[in-house]
Amino acid sequence: MAMLDKVLIANRGEIALRILRACKELGIKTVAVHSQVDRELMHVRLADESVCIGPNSPVDSYLNIPTIISAAEVTDSMGIHPGYGFLAENADFAEQVEKSGFRFIGPRAETIRLMGNKVSAIEAMKEAGVPTVPGSDGPLTDDDKRTLEIARNIGYPVMIKAASGGGGRGMQVVHSEAALLKAVQITQTEAKNAFGDPTVYLEKFLEKPRHVEVQVLADMHGNVIHLGDRDCSMQRRNQKVIEEAPAPNINEESRQRTFKACVDACKKIGYVGAGTFEFLYQDGEFYFIEMNTRVQVEHPVSEMVTGVDIVREQLRIASGEKLQYSQDEITISGHAMECRINAEDPKTFVPSPGKVSHFHAPGGNGVRVDSHMYSGYSVPPYYDSLIAKLITWGDDREIARRRMKIALDEMLVEGIKTNQALHRQLLRDGGFKQVDFTIHHLENLMRD
Ligand code: ADP
Repeated sequence: MAMLDKVLIANRGEIALRILRACKELGIKTVAVHSQVDRELMHVRLADESVCIGPNSPVDSYLNIPTIISAAEVTDSMGIHPGYGFLAENADFAEQVEKSGFRFIGPRAETIRLMGNKVSAIEAMKEAGVPTVPGSDGPLTDDDKRTLEIARNIGYPVMIKAASGGGGRGMQVVHSEAALLKAVQITQTEAKNAFGDPTVYLEKFLEKPRHVEVQVLADMHGNVIHLGDRDCSMQRRNQKVIEEAPAPNINEESRQRTFKACVDACKKIGYVGAGTFEFLYQDGEFYFIEMNTRVQVEHPVSEMVTGVDIVREQLRIASGEKLQYSQDEITISGHAMECRINAEDPKTFVPSPGKVSHFHAPGGNGVRVDSHMYSGYSVPPYYDSLIAKLITWGDDREIARRRMKIALDEMLVEGIKTNQALHRQLLRDGGFKQVDFTIHHLENLMRD
């Protein structure tokens, strides 16, 4: 299989720039595709070629499959990197990319499909020996008696989840039997409207878990490695705010068992590419909730502690090459944190698009800034409000945390509101410092 020589980046913002940089390092030519408003994006300026794929609305541009494939055709691209969000986990897109003669930089379409449906994903993982959350073991039917029985066996509270859900949507917690059937109905309707699929299932609602995930890399030759774990418990409305690697204070025995289960599962399903197993971690045990078949926003923290360039490995894997590392060669060194800097009000979380009149990036030892922002850049209102990822590394967690505090103070973003103040508050919080937190920590803090 030939090395990729030209890659179309089907995304925008910081991740498009991240992918562009990795391509350049490998000597791969780049094609940027962008909506009208995005012609001023940093990666569009730096790419070898660029194509405007439509109006600002994502449906007309970054989600428009035929237009993106046409752009690959006219530019004679060889592969397409989907980044995260948009079409990254769209199995139909992956399939059409391959059918049109391009290489999709990610897993096979059938793998994306298998993992995109949470019911089939859980089933596959269970079969492969990955520990899962006690639940309905399959979708709920219209047999109400059976639904009540399943929930009783699981024990309240339970969580109703949409099989096709994502992005923190399509989930509902139910605390008592009296509320169950109505809630199931509502979630089914919401799921049908939002995802075009009314299928829901039940899971035990874990009351004080942390979110811990495992990064894996798999090549086309059956080699699979993991890059350790990340803690992403700092969340608001199921959206991650701060992530760190390695996950602190984890039971070493269950951690190693879980790493092995993830690698085995990849081998079993023939996984190819970068991927993340997401778990809830409670009382020393891991419970699988879903797998993300793409590069994640928080991938840099794993890069910082392992030295592995995850996006470069994605490109190498898609070129048919073998993984550059064996598991023995992966060691976790020090600690890394990432703060997601959003263009939003730090208290109300209302998005704050507009012109960045002045931007100053922090720096120094162990500081990394992944951002497409520059002085004069206008944050458009049409897309996600992530404008920068601030990443710090330290030889231990405390140094990484202090460096983050310093970097947050150094970073100047003028003209729009950002959530820097929220990050400052989180970083000095006692619970965060002492690793005494659950996924509800941030929301509890906001309530006080
Ligand atoms: P999505 O695909 O929308 O991201 P996930 O299944 O990954 O959905 O869940 C997102 C978040 O919802 C988790 O990080 C966790 O905070 C919460 N969550 C999911 N399942 C459960 C559960 N069974 N018990 C408690 N919290 C849960």
